[in-house]
Amino acid sequence: MLKVLKFGGTSVGTLDRISNVANIVKNMVDNGDKVVVVVSAMSGETNKLIEYAEFYTKTPDDRELDMLLSTGERVTSALLSITLNAQGYKATSMSGREAGIVTDDCHTKARIEIINTDHMQRALDEGKVIVVAGFQGVTTDGRVTTLGRGGSDLTAVALAGALKADVCEIYTDVDGIYTTDPRIVSNAKKLEKISYDEMLELASLGAKVLQNRSVEMAKKLNVNLISRSSFEPDVPGTLITKEENIMEKPIVSGIALDKNQARIGMYGVTDKPGMAANIFTSLADANINVDMIVQTIGKDGKTDLDFTVPKTELEKAKKVMSTFDKDVENIDYNNSIAKVSIVGVGMKSHSGVASKAFGSLAKENINISMISTSEIKISMVIDEKYSELAVRTLHDAYELDK
Ligand code: ADP
Ligand code: ASP
Ligand code: MG
Repeated sequence: MLKVLKFGGTSVGTLDRISNVANIVKNMVDNGDKVVVVVSAMSGETNKLIEYAEFYTKTPDDRELDMLLSTGERVTSALLSITLNAQGYKATSMSGREAGIVTDDCHTKARIEIINTDHMQRALDEGKVIVVAGFQGVTTDGRVTTLGRGGSDLTAVALAGALKADVCEIYTDVDGIYTTDPRIVSNAKKLEKISYDEMLELASLGAKVLQNRSVEMAKKLNVNLISRSSFEPDVPGTLITKEENIMEKPIVSGIALDKNQARIGMYGVTDKPGMAANIFTSLADANINVDMIVQTIGKDGKTDLDFTVPKTELEKAKKVMSTFDKDVENIDYNNSIAKVSIVGVGMKSHSGVASKAFGSLAKENINISMISTSEIKISMVIDEKYSELAVRTLHDAYELDK
């Protein structure tokens, strides 16, 4: 079998943890598998590097930031390769560039365009274990890029697709996908399987156990994706698969929490055609991802516009907002919000799912300030201080522990 394995930050957080990863890899090689490993930076390393940059400025140049951040995963890939070699296993580390990962030039959240697998293929043919530094690629003109936070998951899935691997196993510090973050709800239940679409929603809505773009790509390339634990490698994980492979379709499969959004309220906005287009085009041009948007019905030629952006992009967004001073009476920035979401493919065919969510939050006196829905999810913005309570309340309301 050709396996792509990915080990996240905590799984490579210390030299001993890297030795543990080497043992998992050695077992597979001894079993006759061909192995490509993707590694993250040691835990805390990427955040530390960001702090270093922010010592100088709150808005460091994205290209320079990528140069800096890409170093974290290179350290781990070399260390894992060094220990495998020292134990008599043939291994070679590769940066994103050496692995042939070509991206667009959208620095700090680049998209993979093509993967030139020749170099990797040769190493595999020579019987080597390849240890790829995750989270990075290179533009066609040779600049290093990174793939967004959690981007090593994407590296792994993309490599599994490009190499036509039999499986892509994402090793982390929990043993699979649960009905909600098991660190928030202790009786969260582990799922044996989950559909790509539900996993994509959970990931996009804040469940960082898998990066959302990696799930999107796994669905597109039909990659057999497994989430499992590097601490308990013998415990079977959760399979992320096509909806038709799942027999039992619960109405609600999981609850996600996202504390990384900030809310921008623009009050007294001139109510004329093209205003929203101007605002959101300017934000898009600055590479800022806008999530929920609520506009109230205009009155007296004015309207209010509320939307959310990632907290990490708030400073950039403030710069963009300052160009709209003359069209707006007042702009309010709120850093202490959270978004809780319920996700489930079964929602498509059931009514009353939303009212149960609103009702159970109301009972706890939790105010909902924004709502958005799709076929398979309901998201609500609330005050950050109630976020854990809201997740527990919803988990109980839909009896997800049963
Ligand atoms: P890694 O560093 O290995 O990439 P992450 O910290 O990115 O790991 O993701 C793993 C974490 O995701 C877990 O420790 C857990 O707290 C969190 N998590 C959030 N939602 C879920 C969920 N539904 N199921 C499992 N883990 C979840
Ligand atoms: N090291 C990067 C991050 O912390 C990428 C990853 O771990 O997947 O976001
Ligand atoms: Mg991660």
